[in-house]
Amino acid sequence: MSNFPKKTLEFIQKHLLRQQKEVEKNLKLVTEDDPAKSPALVESSEPGTDSYIAETHGKSIVLGKKLTDAKTSIKVALQKIKNGTYGKCENCGKQIEIGRLLAMPTAQYCVACSKKNFGK
Ligand SMILES: [Zn+2]
Repeated sequence: MSNFPKKTLEFIQKHLLRQQKEVEKNLKLVTEDDPAKSPALVESSEPGTDSYIAETHGKSIVLGKKLTDAKTSIKVALQKIKNGTYGKCENCGKQIEIGRLLAMPTAQYCVACSKKNFGK
């Protein structure tokens, strides 16, 4: 981590902490918005209610999963900053480009590995 400017790392850490708060807030909103969590609506047998619940519930699940994933990667990134392993590519172990980390602080792979693994 010697090639990581302390200021940059602090900046990224602050950014991640802000993001973490935002994600947690949204996650709460999504969970509260889910009509499947409301017993009155679920028990109702009105025509069309089921599909409304299913659709909205489905959206909440997808969004909730995305937010949970984001929460996990933020947590992992913050843990790495603490451990001093932040910014290392999970695949090749090389230093991830600082510009990439600034654009995507939760990046776990360098540009080359990311292209190799996901850039299809
Ligand atoms: Zn790599």
